[in-house]
Amino acid sequence: DRLISQIAAGEVVERPASVVKELLENAIDAGASRISLRIEEGGVRRIVVADDGVGIPAAELPLAPLRHATSKIATLDELERVATLGFRGEALASIASVARLSVTSRTADAGHAWKLDAETGEIQPAAGARGTTIEVLDLYAATPARRKFLKAPATEAAHCLEALRRVALAHPDIGFEAVNDGRAVEPLPAGGWRERALAGLGDDYKSAHRLVDAEAGGLRLQGVLGAPTLNRARADRQFLYVNGRFVRDRLLGYAVRQAYSDMMHGDRHAAWVLHLWLDPSLVDANVHPAKTEVRFRDASAVRSFVFHAVQDALREAHR
Ligand code: ADP
Ligand code: MG
Repeated sequence: DRLISQIAAGEVVERPASVVKELLENAIDAGASRISLRIEEGGVRRIVVADDGVGIPAAELPLAPLRHATSKIATLDELERVATLGFRGEALASIASVARLSVTSRTADAGHAWKLDAETGEIQPAAGARGTTIEVLDLYAATPARRKFLKAPATEAAHCLEALRRVALAHPDIGFEAVNDGRAVEPLPAGGWRERALAGLGDDYKSAHRLVDAEAGGLRLQGVLGAPTLNRARADRQFLYVNGRFVRDRLLGYAVRQAYSDMMHGDRHAAWVLHLWLDPSLVDANVHPAKTEVRFRDASAVRSFVFHAVQDALREAHR
């Protein structure tokens, strides 16, 4: 079963940032209002995610890292709808197969926390407030072939923080903190989507941005459009969410770029955060929830809406 998990792990925990993403999404599923992330040596040495969510009852704690153990699916119908972000109890099992995993958790009615060592399956009383802390040590230590594919710690750390930013942009109501090799990263206090989007784009956009908030034909686009900049480091700060889920979509990205094109003289780059909301039935749900692709029933209508909404918002800026 460990081998099967290691194979599954290839998909779920490709690199430290994928572990970070899974742990953050679990914390969100648990209803956390504050989440903290700590990484060491690009996450390879250590990843800790702590939340103040509902916690895991002591009796269920040993089950959490087992394959297909999930508390989130009651019926097959629900499985098909994939109501929560998690997907069928793969993540913790996969992580446990390629790292040393421990889970410390306390529910509201428990007198104290319990800590599970996933390797031995032992649980023991522990200190801690309500919520869950998951610690992942020595990622890929037992699978050197995978470890070989990792980039330098600084690069893996950047990917981990990027994963945090992606999740945080979708959840402005949750406060996030992060520490990278002992250094605190700019915290993201709970707030509205505008403040969160600006925090995600970077300080230099505090005044140099436009808001977009448009609605037409059942489609809604909200977001922050950064003014074009010569700062190359901002070129990758482009975040698109569809119904709250981070996606990559080449054609929508292209539509946004086209809308910016009047302003893009010289070697300029644009950073932006856009949230597209539409009836879920207009999006193909059969795309694997861990993937970042999306399929629209009417892609050209969506593209045209996004193009015009962004162009209008940018043009208003010129008046
Ligand atoms: P999934 O998220 O698909 O259910 P995971 O492997 O990610 O699968 O997690 C397994 C189970 O462990 C979850 O269903 C949940 O019951 C529990 N769990 C994991 N992380 C947390 C957390 N941060 N807070 C509360 N429960 C958690
Ligand atoms: Mg999960």
